[in-house]
Amino acid sequence: MSKNQVSSNELNNNPDVVLIGGGIMSATLGVMLKRLKPELTIQIIESLPSVALESSHAWNNAGTGHAALCELNYTPQHADGSVTIDKAVAINEHFEQSKQFWAYLVEQGVIESPEDFIRKVPHMSFVRGEDGVDFLSSRFEAMKGHHFFADMDYSENVDEIGEWAPLLSQGREAAEKIATTRVEGGTDIDFGSLTQILITHLKSLDGVSLATETSVRDIDRVPSGGWKVRVRRDGELGSEKIHAKFVFIGAGGGSLKLLQKSGIREGKGFGGFPVSGQFLVCQDEEIIEKHAAKVYGKAAVGAPPMSVPHLDTRVIDGKKSLLFGPFAGFSPKFLKRGSIFDLIASVKPDNLGPMLAVGRDNMSLTEYLYQEVVNTHTDRVDVLREFFPDAEEGDWKLVTAGQRVQIIKKDPEVGGKLQFGTEVVSAEDGSIAALLGASPGASTSVAIILEVLERCFGDEMKTGASTVKEMVSSYGDVLANDADRYASERARADKALKII
Ligand SMILES: Cc1cc2nc3c(=O)[nH]c(=O)nc-3n(C[C@H](O)[C@H](O)[C@H](O)COP(=O)(O)OP(=O)(O)OC[C@H]3O[C@@H](n4cnc5c(N)ncnc54)[C@H](O)[C@@H]3O)c2cc1C
Repeated sequence: MSKNQVSSNELNNNPDVVLIGGGIMSATLGVMLKRLKPELTIQIIESLPSVALESSHAWNNAGTGHAALCELNYTPQHADGSVTIDKAVAINEHFEQSKQFWAYLVEQGVIESPEDFIRKVPHMSFVRGEDGVDFLSSRFEAMKGHHFFADMDYSENVDEIGEWAPLLSQGREAAEKIATTRVEGGTDIDFGSLTQILITHLKSLDGVSLATETSVRDIDRVPSGGWKVRVRRDGELGSEKIHAKFVFIGAGGGSLKLLQKSGIREGKGFGGFPVSGQFLVCQDEEIIEKHAAKVYGKAAVGAPPMSVPHLDTRVIDGKKSLLFGPFAGFSPKFLKRGSIFDLIASVKPDNLGPMLAVGRDNMSLTEYLYQEVVNTHTDRVDVLREFFPDAEEGDWKLVTAGQRVQIIKKDPEVGGKLQFGTEVVSAEDGSIAALLGASPGASTSVAIILEVLERCFGDEMKTGASTVKEMVSSYGDVLANDADRYASERARADKALKII
């Protein structure tokens, strides 16, 4: 557990806004709302003893600043061999918005030391074999002309690759065909630390209260306006009621259940499928020191896109470590500290059809998860050896990361579909919004929260348009279409975040 626990037991029963969950999403929304409308009163409710202990905690996610510099699943290849980069461009644009917001918070003195949460770490893609090399070179050709990816280098030369990432070449057969791309300006991010910084700041503002060890049990619409949120504090038998004009369900894996409890029409038909993640963590300081990159490979057949294997430098609480994974697994829990009944309890008459359709149509995912669950330590280290041929079993130990609840959504043609992105679900009147899914995740938290604000705080976004532009300077513009503007925005953000 991190050294800086952020906890409190203040409960305001009549705030303007309730933020359910003390993760990066609620933290980002809270800070933006207070900047847009300082007089708002906000109650944050977190069921665990501190904020940022679930998916946003550094050890529960991979800490990659997803800018689509290395993740091969954002650039699909078509039957004719061509590679599409649209999704990669969109993710990079969103990540730049996140960086702009964090840079603004540094400039405003909210974040004192950006190195407490963000560091520059090169992002690399790595492939093996003829097909892999063909794909990566086509991908490089498709990307290098776009100003977002102009810094990308490509190599099939083992010696050069060994200079970029020694562990990849060490012990590798000379005849093996491999290729990598490399972008020096990638990032490693401790989203737990960032969440703590943001919520500590929020707590210091007038009108903001945080109640940890307090769980939201129910949410009901109040006919005269707003929402009644029923909460229970740990160790107490009875519950308390909070009345709020606006509710944000930012409960991570717990969001689906609360969305269902709210009963809003827009939430009908959604289901969830949990995929757990595990990482191998290196125990040997000498090996850790030899690697300084996030190296992403290709997903196995049937693997969900977020289970792409990667060999990753991390810096958590100032200490460098080396992770490999994630290995997917199955657990019926929707939160790492959830209940084994989460999955079954989430099945309702309105999502049964979509859930069954997804079960029927995703046999390769089921097979993949089964294989992952039965894998032994030796099997996992064998996968690691594809990246780091000299890996020794004894140098690595398995740790369990967070749960990701993939969205199951109604589909008019096939009944139901599994979706790997993030979805904002909001009531028509904008009085409640929930966030489902977890990909690309915390890296794009700013774009996701801007969507929540557009849908639910349209008036405030209009009257506070200049504040929005101060917070996210490229908001409303498209950096993907303007290379000069991108260069200047990026230079400003990178300087403030000390990741030049
Ligand atoms: C294995 C893994 C790897 C990942 N890697 C990356 C990555 O490399 N880069 C990236 O950008 N993203 C990554 N992600 C995704 C990222 O971690 C999430 O998108 C992000 O942390 C979600 O933040 P959140 O605030 O929505 O949820 P959380 O951080 O989970 O916060 C939700 C909070 O709500 C609380 N809560 C739940 N129910 C209730 C209730 N009833 N009452 C009160 N409180 C409640 C929980 O305790 C929790 O603290 C990864 C996720 C996983 C699991």
